[in-house]
Amino acid sequence: ELVAGVIARMDLKLKADYVTGLLNRNAFYVDLMKELNSSPNARGAVIFVGLDNFQLITETYGYEFGDNALKQLAQDITNILPPDIKLYKISSSRFAFVMADAMPEEIEIIFSSVQLCMREIRNVEDTIYCTASGGATFYPDDADDYVTLLRYAEVALEFARRKGRDQISFFDKEIYDRWRYDVGMQNLMQNSIARGCEDFFLCFQPQVDAKDGRLIGAEALLRWYDKDGSVVPPMQFIPLLEKSRMIIPVGHWIIENAVIVAKKWQQWQPDFQMSVNISLYQLEEHMLFPFAKDCMERHEIDPRTMTFELTESQSVYDWEFVNKQFSEFHDLGIQIAMDDFGTGYSNLGFLKNFSCNIIKIDRMFIQDILTDNFDRNLVKYIIMLCHSIGMRVCVEGVEDEETYIYLRDECNADEIQGFYFGRPETIEVFEKRFKK
Ligand code: C2E
Ligand code: CA
Ligand code: CA
Repeated sequence: ELVAGVIARMDLKLKADYVTGLLNRNAFYVDLMKELNSSPNARGAVIFVGLDNFQLITETYGYEFGDNALKQLAQDITNILPPDIKLYKISSSRFAFVMADAMPEEIEIIFSSVQLCMREIRNVEDTIYCTASGGATFYPDDADDYVTLLRYAEVALEFARRKGRDQISFFDKEIYDRWRYDVGMQNLMQNSIARGCEDFFLCFQPQVDAKDGRLIGAEALLRWYDKDGSVVPPMQFIPLLEKSRMIIPVGHWIIENAVIVAKKWQQWQPDFQMSVNISLYQLEEHMLFPFAKDCMERHEIDPRTMTFELTESQSVYDWEFVNKQFSEFHDLGIQIAMDDFGTGYSNLGFLKNFSCNIIKIDRMFIQDILTDNFDRNLVKYIIMLCHSIGMRVCVEGVEDEETYIYLRDECNADEIQGFYFGRPETIEVFEKRFKK
């Protein structure tokens, strides 16, 4: 009898969560498997509820307070669930339940009740903002084995958190696949960076003087080899580099290598101008200026032969700091170009706040210039405007002779960059073509 009691308690301990008395993760796995095997037509949803910021409550008010809040919450959520549904506590701040034959709308309604329960524990201590996020996945539509379902519920929960918490997300295979691809690529790039940016390389696109088509410089454009050896275009990986802040180390590598190539090419063309793209994420980093300065000193290159191209592709938090960086680059002699002028944020307001040397007009305004009267005039007057305030203009995306002649003769463009004068090429190909 005594032994039986101990075994029963041990059994309970294996199945129950110590704090809330709810069934625990092991029990959840077992019951979910049972449900999936209950019938070949079993359908329903696995739902996770994760507490946002819960650790703040225990950190601030202690474990006892946190435990009581959890106990209360377990009780409240159990009460709002339909009577045949069991609630499980699968980790320190996560609940789960399975709902057979559930429709998304029903799950949403239940989740809003969970949000109401959260409000109760918030009322206890209103200064702490503790909410819940939810993730749901359907069987057999999303998956029919419990391991995958658990992973998908977890992913859905993570999506809800990324969307700003305090809401429920349903698993979405398409988003998941894209996310996995991004994560995979991010890992590969991380490894590549750890090995000294091994799989990155730079291509160079010629920039010519609009008057006579003479080569004056090049823009360095980043490329990356995927693991199968194919070249990935920057639009696919630069946003990832920026989001993960890996653009900081890669950005240093880009500057270093562009400076080395510029130094080399200045042996046959002393005023060769090298342009490098700088993302605003890099400007927010405090090491960029000292790094660039030191790099140019080490390679003994004249800063005036370097151009930093800036695109405002994101909102800037610290304008003052960015402004300060700008003027430091300026004072050092580096040329500043405003990239993709006319798109996104780089507009007339931007022109007013930043003293730059060069405006680069985006390809978007050039591609229809031969047929579109509006674009023809727009480009012409933008160039006039820029000249009147002492800025040079580089026109991008020039692909044919007729466009070039229009820009040269009617618009007085200063510099041209485009496929008509050359595509981005590797160092070897570029040298073969231009080295005298
Ligand atoms: P971007 O700075 O505007 O670079 C010019 C892009 O236009 C390049 O694309 C170039 O191949 C393309 N292009 C140039 N002339 C023509 C033309 O005549 N016709 C057409 N259709 N396209 C032309 P790419 O190399 O794919 O680069 C895309 C963007 O990726 C760049 O736009 C830039 O924003 C970013 N990027 C490239 N390299 C770097 C880098 O090293 N650092 C940072 N932060 N961004 C980079
Ligand atoms: Ca550029
Ligand atoms: Ca551009």
